Amino acid sequence: MVKLDAKIPEGPLALKWTNYKASQKLVNPANKRKLDIIVVGTGLAGASAAASFAEMGFNVKVFTIQDSPRRAHSIAAQGGINAAKNYPNDGDSVRRLFYDTIKGGDYRAREANVYRLAEVSNSIIDQCVAQGVPFAREYGGLLDNRSFGGAQVSRTFYAKGQTGQQLLLGAYQALMRQVELKKVTLYTRNELVNIVIVDGRARGIISRDLVTGKLQRHFGHAVVLATGGYGNTFFLSTNAIGSNGSAALRAYQKGALFANPCFAQIHPTCIPVHGEFQSKLTLMSESLRNDGRIWVPKKKEDAEAIRAGKLKPTEIAEEDRDYYLERRYPAFGNLVPRDVASRAAKERCDAGYGVGATGLAVYLDFKESIERLGIDAIRARYGNLFQMYEKIVDDNPYETPMMIYPAIHYTMGGIWVDYELQTTIPGLFCAGEANFSDHGANRLGASALMQGLADGYFVLPYTVQNYLADQIRIPRMTTNENEFVEAEKESAERLTKLLSVNGKRSVDSIHKELGLVMWDFVGMARNEEGLKKALERIREIKKEFWTNVRIPGSNDGMNIELEKANRLADFIEIGELMALDALKREESCGGHFREEHQTEDGEALRHDDKFAYVSCWEFKGDNQEPEMHKEELKYEEIKVAQRNYK
Ligand SMILES: Cc1cc2nc3c(=O)[nH]c(=O)nc-3n(C[C@H](O)[C@H](O)[C@H](O)COP(=O)(O)OP(=O)(O)OC[C@H]3O[C@@H](n4cnc5c(N)ncnc54)[C@H](O)[C@@H]3O)c2cc1C
Repeated sequence: MVKLDAKIPEGPLALKWTNYKASQKLVNPANKRKLDIIVVGTGLAGASAAASFAEMGFNVKVFTIQDSPRRAHSIAAQGGINAAKNYPNDGDSVRRLFYDTIKGGDYRAREANVYRLAEVSNSIIDQCVAQGVPFAREYGGLLDNRSFGGAQVSRTFYAKGQTGQQLLLGAYQALMRQVELKKVTLYTRNELVNIVIVDGRARGIISRDLVTGKLQRHFGHAVVLATGGYGNTFFLSTNAIGSNGSAALRAYQKGALFANPCFAQIHPTCIPVHGEFQSKLTLMSESLRNDGRIWVPKKKEDAEAIRAGKLKPTEIAEEDRDYYLERRYPAFGNLVPRDVASRAAKERCDAGYGVGATGLAVYLDFKESIERLGIDAIRARYGNLFQMYEKIVDDNPYETPMMIYPAIHYTMGGIWVDYELQTTIPGLFCAGEANFSDHGANRLGASALMQGLADGYFVLPYTVQNYLADQIRIPRMTTNENEFVEAEKESAERLTKLLSVNGKRSVDSIHKELGLVMWDFVGMARNEEGLKKALERIREIKKEFWTNVRIPGSNDGMNIELEKANRLADFIEIGELMALDALKREESCGGHFREEHQTEDGEALRHDDKFAYVSCWEFKGDNQEPEMHKEELKYEEIKVAQRNYK
């Protein structure tokens, strides 16, 4: 029987983390040298955690599927990272960042974790500046800030449109320093394929060397998963092609709980889908909404003429443009949170006002800000994003408005963790996008980088140490123990099973099919009938996959199709879990919009009396319905209210 204990420390909210740190157990330097920690993932969460553990004196083994830690998906992050420094003196504070994050997440996040996140946000900026991360600065020398959705202050620190890259380089340098000092052993092109549990505790992993195909056993006194999100379940997403949910799914199948799987974020400003053969979608950063204004034609005939190629957006007079976000949400305007902006775009397109050849696009226009600030100012702020857009779309966004449409971007759901970021399996921790995290039902822009680095630099170093203080008498295990042998055997059998299907369909064709079902029925708008259909279709796809997938080549060396198939098998399971969770949550909140539950003006309608909980799914065996446990969410400091951005 799973016991859910969030282990929220006693005391007033603002003192919980201080109290935790003051009373946590420590490991002395001599004992740290005897303890090994496995960190899986080298994105911002994993790289920062691994570097910190090694700096503290633990021995660390780090795994990544890429050829270099620098290539983790985090490198793609564009817009920025939040912190409550209040440099612009516009009224920000830790309390306000905390409040905005809880409200932005539609009151479905855990108060104590979110407060801690806001509390450590300022230290992240100091840490990164000390590492040399080149944040943008103002003329006077202070770090510059811009605004992101869901906030009325400017609290987003940025490095042009490459914030993730610069932050990752900082964490990477810290990590490589420890590799050089031999405190970190780095395993690149190595994929976790199983988790080893000994006497109920996580004690290691099985990895597959993606170059040789060999399975390897690794021991650790604790294991940290920082393996990113599962947005690629939808096939087309803004995530890196290699992003996957496999490590999270392995943890789930070994007894960790999967929390809020249906909370997926759809980002409003992506380059629209432009063809059947696309395998990736491109994000245009939310930072663009600082200066870009979103609109569609006011008149249907104009929208039709644009779709038919008979009219250009620049030919539409100002009074014939509908700046629908400014109209509907005057207080936040173009900077409403992502879920709200995405739904508003869908509403306009569904009503026949969409532009572009497919009608599934809206405009993001810089005309007014170029006139106000000058083209050089806009180029300095967003130059690389404009260049990227022009390269992909072959249109100059300085002259013609960009076309954008919502796309899958981030997953708020993930492995359930307590206040210590520990899963229900002792010794197994989960950080960054892979955990169910602090963002509730909708993540605010620039908060993922904040969370990943908070977890890695400032939370895990305390909480993992607290756990390891009780493990100092456990000697390093040999990986010849039965549990390691069995786990390796299990993984080898799965790979053999995949290869032996020997059917007719390519991995991608099945993945695309899954993605379409997810987008149509578990995407921006969901309803009971659609979700039941999705469950039925996903189960059919699962059957098709296990009887008809074709994986050329063997397991003896590099085999990209085998890697993809191994991950797709897990995406199918995750897709099913998402649909099930979405079906059971009979309310709308954040990114989870159930059409049956909306206010008169089409906003998300929560049912706090019934659904103010984290849904935590327990695996019950292959093809068995999982069991849902509930972590009730108690709001002691924040008054829960209907979200309002008007
Ligand atoms: C285009 C884009 C722009 C974004 N911009 C912003 C932004 O401006 N601000 C913001 O706050 N957020 C942004 N985000 C979100 C943010 O980038 C991510 O949420 C965050 O970087 C995730 O970091 P992570 O460390 O948790 O995981 P990731 O960066 O995804 O890293 C996962 C790591 O796990 C490894 N891995 C995965 N599976 C395995 C396995 N089985 N075995 C071994 N290793 C494995 C990978 O190799 C990788 O090293 C953006 C996202 C996208 C897609």
